[in-house]
Amino acid sequence: MSLLTAWFSGKESNEKSSRPILSEILKAMRESVIVVGEDTRILASNQAAYNAFARNNGALEDKRLSEVVRDLSLHEAFRKALKEDVSSDVELELPGAERRKYDVHIAPIEFDKVRGAIGIFYDITQIEHLEKVRQEFLSNVSHELRTPLTSILAFVETLEDGAIDDAENNQRFLGVIRKNAQRMHHLIDDILELSFIESGGITLKRKSVNLHSQTEEVFTNLSSKAKEFRIKLKNEVSKETFVFADAVRLEQMLTNLIDNAVKFNQKSGTVTVGFERKNETDIILIHDTGEGISTEHLQRIFERFYRTDRARSREIGGTGLGLAIVKHLARLHGGEVSVSSVLGKGSTFSIEIPRNRDEERR
Ligand code: ADP
Repeated sequence: MSLLTAWFSGKESNEKSSRPILSEILKAMRESVIVVGEDTRILASNQAAYNAFARNNGALEDKRLSEVVRDLSLHEAFRKALKEDVSSDVELELPGAERRKYDVHIAPIEFDKVRGAIGIFYDITQIEHLEKVRQEFLSNVSHELRTPLTSILAFVETLEDGAIDDAENNQRFLGVIRKNAQRMHHLIDDILELSFIESGGITLKRKSVNLHSQTEEVFTNLSSKAKEFRIKLKNEVSKETFVFADAVRLEQMLTNLIDNAVKFNQKSGTVTVGFERKNETDIILIHDTGEGISTEHLQRIFERFYRTDRARSREIGGTGLGLAIVKHLARLHGGEVSVSSVLGKGSTFSIEIPRNRDEERR
């Protein structure tokens, strides 16, 4: 009698009634489960296992385990469960386009004196990915903080070693210390802001916001920087344009994008803010006449700390977090941010925000 027959034909009535329950539990489990008999043929599996391992080859039942998953340590673990009655855990990595990683627990089981082994596959792909992202983030943060800190310490030492009495240079050294301390301050502000947004800490207060006035306000705030870089700011949004957004967060998105458009522009360049309406979506366009962004970088600039030129971004006071913040804020609005760019000609960042039809009908 096979393990499955034993399972489904329990003789005692209380066993019989528990079997449908077991079968339902298997079905409901998110983890993939595979049960094999002594000959390592699959006797039972659940839908999750089918989704993970079937690869269009039909049902898993009756196939050998080795036909379904090719992995030596997994087979060894099943063998140990069957022959030596020993439970074990193995890590299983499935290569391919959709690489997946599992933490598998394999244990011997027995029904009505029929032996078998069960494998429970915990998908740890996402956990591993998150762990990697966390590690990368920590290492990035440490690196970003260490650079200005090293500079501060070096200049403090120089002052201590006598430069404090050097009337020609001491103010300049203090200036460098101040600049680096401010950089650290910005960085910590941006990290806190990003983690606040990512943790779902903010609730948007969306209403109709006049985009023309909002753009003017951001232009005013950035006017001295624009002057410093000799950049012309053009507001091409009509005075009657309203978007459905959280005013504070919209200002933050515009500030980050316009600030970049100024910083990465060419001398005497222009930054233009425009607006388009497409079906259900409002699109805010921030266009610059700067150096542009090459295709290899284009995909990645919204990642945290990603910069096309790290040293240059730092020099002009960047933290590498501005675009990541914009991306999260746009998504919180149910929208998205994207970019198109022509090298040597300039870039256009677009914030898409869904329209609020209810508001317009009123
Ligand atoms: P940063 O603090 O460096 O500005 P961001 O996240 O705002 O960080 O931008 C990431 C990187 O994307 C920048 O360092 C720069 O390399 C590139 N970038 C952003 N905006 C522009 C732009 N308008 N033109 C060219 N490159 C840009």
